[in-house]
Parts: sequence; C-alpha cells; structure tokens
Amino acid sequence: MFQLVIATKNKHKLEEFKQLLKGNEDSAELKSLLDFPSAPDVVENCNTFEGNASKKAIEISEYTGQPAFADDSGLMVDALNGEPGVHSARYAGEGATDADRINKLLKAIEGVENRKAQFVCVIAVAYNGEILETFTGVCKGRIATEIHGENGFGYDPVFIPDGYDKTFAELTQEEKNKISHRALAVREALDFFQNLAESMDIF
Ligand code: IMP
Repeated sequence: MFQLVIATKNKHKLEEFKQLLKGNEDSAELKSLLDFPSAPDVVENCNTFEGNASKKAIEISEYTGQPAFADDSGLMVDALNGEPGVHSARYAGEGATDADRINKLLKAIEGVENRKAQFVCVIAVAYNGEILETFTGVCKGRIATEIHGENGFGYDPVFIPDGYDKTFAELTQEEKNKISHRALAVREALDFFQNLAESMDIF
C-alpha cells in the first residue's frame, strides 16, 4: 500500500481525482494537501504545465516523505495563441470568480470564428524530491458562445468537447470523467504506478 498525496487544495479537482482513482483503494491511499495543512504553498511560476506540476510534486514529496502526485491544468484557446494556458486560474486577476474568467474569455473571442480549444492536464509523480515521470492528458473541443450547464467547475460551462453538443457543465461527472484531460492523465499515471509497484518494492 502506498500513499498518494495529491498536491492540491482545490476541492473540485480533488473530488474528480477521487472518482478517477476509485477501485484502487487497496493499493493507494489517497491524501491531499488538506491532510497536510502546514505544507509549503508552492508558487506556480513556471511557464509550462509540466514545470508547475513537477515543481509541486517535488516540493510536496520532500515535505511528506511520500510519493506525491501533482497536477497542473488549464485551458488553451487557439485564437488566443494558447492563452489562458498556465494562467487559467488567474486569467481575470486575483480574487476573480469563475464567472469573471469566463466573461473575460468570451469577450476576448467575441465574433471570432475559430473557437478551437483544448484542456490540458499534466501529472507529475515525484518521490524523495525527484521526478519519476510526467503524464499529459489532452481533451480537444471548442468554446461555446454562451454559458450552458451547472455541473463541474472553472471553464466547464463554455467548453464543448469534440464529438458532443453539450458543454462539460452539462455532462454528468461520470461522462466528463470518461473523456477529460484529467481522466486521460490519471489513467496513464495509474498504469505507471501499478507497473512500478510490481517491478520495484519501493513503497
Ligand atoms: P490549477 O491546475 O489548479 O493551476 O488550475 C487550473 C485552472 O484551469 C482551474 O482553476 C480552472 O480555471 C481551469 N481548469 C482546469 N481543469 C479544468 C476543468 O476540468 N474544467 C474547467 N476548468 C478547468
């Protein structure tokens, strides 16, 4: 049994991770930074998802002495040259709400024909302050012209995944978890952990 510390305090993201890791309770005990309230606040100042995820995983694995599993994610919009990208959480400044960020995004691409976008999630796995591996999940889609749906969080009400005519916020958690960027990255990370646990007796 190993402990997986998910380096986040975002309750929505944590809930999604919990759902995605269901069925693996025998091998992995899931923890988050909420279980380590005095853990260092890692500054996400890298300009790539991989850089930020790795930084968080390294610092948290050093702090807890456990394998840490950190993610960084965001929305990349083609017409905005990939923005908000790593700035997705702070796109409308400190203290802004999801609604503020969505309104800013819709304004920035008002009348723009190319609405292509993708959600990206990078998961970095670190142990004893060293990166073991990183995994990337991408979910392609487009930005709606107005908000729809009440499920999910963040930019979900304006993101329509390819092959659907509904936003992420109109899908159930189960439906989103089949196709989301986070689900794809988690699936790969779980395969990696299972192989690692079988081949090396390190946890
Ligand atoms: P971070 O990964 O905690 O830095 O936050 C990334 C930000 O990207 C979130 O605060 C959301 O605004 C956005 N984001 C990441 N994943 C999702 C998702 O699944 N749905 C909606 N927004 C997301």
